[in-house]
Amino acid sequence: MNVEILCIGSELLHGDIVNTNARYISKKLAEIAIDVHYQTVVGDNTDRIKKAFGIGFSRADIVICTGGLGPTQDDITKEALAEYFGVEMVYDEGSYEHVKNIYMRFRRDFPQNNMRQTYFPKGSIIMDNPNGTANGCIYRGKDSEDNYKIGILLPGPPKEMEPMMDLKVIPYLKQFSNWVVYGEKLVVTNIGESAAEEMVLDIIKKQTNPTIATFASAGKVVFRITAKAESKEKCIELIEPVMEELIKRFGKDNAYLVDSGNVEDKVSQLLLENSLTISLAESLTGGLVSSKLISYPGISKSYLQGFVTYSNESKIKSLNVKEETIEKYGAVSEETAKEMAYGAAEISGSDIAVSTTGIAGPDGGSKEKPVGLAYVCVYFEGRYEVKKIHSSGARETVRERAAVAALDLVRSCIEKK
Ligand code: ATP
Repeated sequence: MNVEILCIGSELLHGDIVNTNARYISKKLAEIAIDVHYQTVVGDNTDRIKKAFGIGFSRADIVICTGGLGPTQDDITKEALAEYFGVEMVYDEGSYEHVKNIYMRFRRDFPQNNMRQTYFPKGSIIMDNPNGTANGCIYRGKDSEDNYKIGILLPGPPKEMEPMMDLKVIPYLKQFSNWVVYGEKLVVTNIGESAAEEMVLDIIKKQTNPTIATFASAGKVVFRITAKAESKEKCIELIEPVMEELIKRFGKDNAYLVDSGNVEDKVSQLLLENSLTISLAESLTGGLVSSKLISYPGISKSYLQGFVTYSNESKIKSLNVKEETIEKYGAVSEETAKEMAYGAAEISGSDIAVSTTGIAGPDGGSKEKPVGLAYVCVYFEGRYEVKKIHSSGARETVRERAAVAALDLVRSCIEKK
């Protein structure tokens, strides 16, 4: 069984919105080992939508379509599906009640246009939409060459589409797949992408199940190890020995498992498990490290305070960095980074304090201190750990790399405790 995802909407073609529906559906299908061979986008144009259905069914067993289930004349997805299979559209009383109830709740009259949302290709399984007026549907029928094909129609708004996909479509499609796909993520820091890949290339090359995929982003490399088996437990059995070998090669201090692949999640878990509080003194990263940590639910027990001290004056005034230190060593220096972290710890009373200072560019660099130079510092239990980083790339990359390095340094300090 393979799938084509067909997303309808001119705003997708114009670049006004990102096609998050296709990504969501692809990810969900991957979890139940159903292959997606094509993703197509088509505008709100009747002829082209009909053509897209024809092309989709000519090369896939299942076409999952989002959008075009609204009440207006250009919402013709259901009609296009019915036409493809040569079936008529029939009235569904349940959908009528559903739309009527929504309008009654808002004390508004039922617009005649919305009657369109009560008709479906004859023989469809209708999927309720608790989050909007447009119910979805699944139609299974034969094409002109007598092959079974399945059309699945979902509403466009992600808040309506996602629960329908999870609660109705995935359980329905599971009958066509006996497999589970499960993956774990290993985050590797302190080793560059190509060096990291080279260290485990022999494993990557000989692996078929599980497979290993590498993704590099500023400051880290993520290895996703994915297995396909009859159950999640069996997948874990296949993944475990490979994961152990990878960790052995990279070293425990440089490689660790995180579900999300985000260093901030690992740091937040460690802070909470060890009942440690943290404060931030950010210059170069301007709140980025704080923002990453704060995205972790429950971090309020640990995160005390953040200082964004971009100017020299603010470093002196808000963090008690000595004027002489900045004059002698500069704002981008190990000494300033240390005083920033110390100041944050003293003022907030946190167990750990982290600072970042650097030159994001594109201007402001010199021969001694080029663009991309950064220092991150952790102050913890009376000791300082400083890391000097040289990044290349755009301003955003320099800042992101420093933020990831700062978080990773916190992780390593807590783990070494
Ligand atoms: P409605 O009944 O709300 O009109 P619909 O099923 O007809 O729903 P569309 O009109 O195609 O859906 O899309 C409604 C909104 O949903 C779009 O304006 C957009 O914000 C969002 N949307 C649609 N398709 C996608 C997509 N592929 N990815 C992300 N968002 C989408």
